[in-house]
Amino acid sequence: MSQSSGDPNTYPSSSFANGMTGTCLCKSISVTINDPDLFTKRRGHLCHCGNCRKISGSFASSNLIIDDAKVTIIDHQGTLKKYVDKDTGSGTPVDRYFCSTCSTPIKSTSPRGVGKLSLKMGLFPRIPAPEAEAFSAHRHEWEAGIQDITSYKLGLGGEILKQGQL
Ligand SMILES: [Zn+2]
Ligand SMILES: [Zn+2]
Repeated sequence: MSQSSGDPNTYPSSSFANGMTGTCLCKSISVTINDPDLFTKRRGHLCHCGNCRKISGSFASSNLIIDDAKVTIIDHQGTLKKYVDKDTGSGTPVDRYFCSTCSTPIKSTSPRGVGKLSLKMGLFPRIPAPEAEAFSAHRHEWEAGIQDITSYKLGLGGEILKQGQL
């Protein structure tokens, strides 16, 4: 089995009791989450908004909003680049960071979340079960719903279509 197959089942969540490190595809950028509670409860959210679909190259992005202080980012080859996304649903620009060598999305930050950043969870060997989904009104009809998740119609913290059982 190639190492790059990335089977999350080869990484039991118990192995991340002290945090978890992930990298971009070319491994220039490594990101460590220093948080013992990554897998002790549901964490993070999926976002179905149009901008997240574009930058994730998929039908949803997998994000974790977390305190800056709990994240260590090492840019080994100086490849971390920023795109200022001004065309956002909220109207507030979002800084979107990615690896300029391999294009992997890394994180985003917004003046709406001071001291916080939103990590792109595809970087990591294992992704915690998400607690919520944003822009669920924009979900494709073929996508199965996730049980026990809180579904926000649009932005996080807004109208709830379905309350999760957390
Ligand atoms: Zn890279
Ligand atoms: Zn989004």
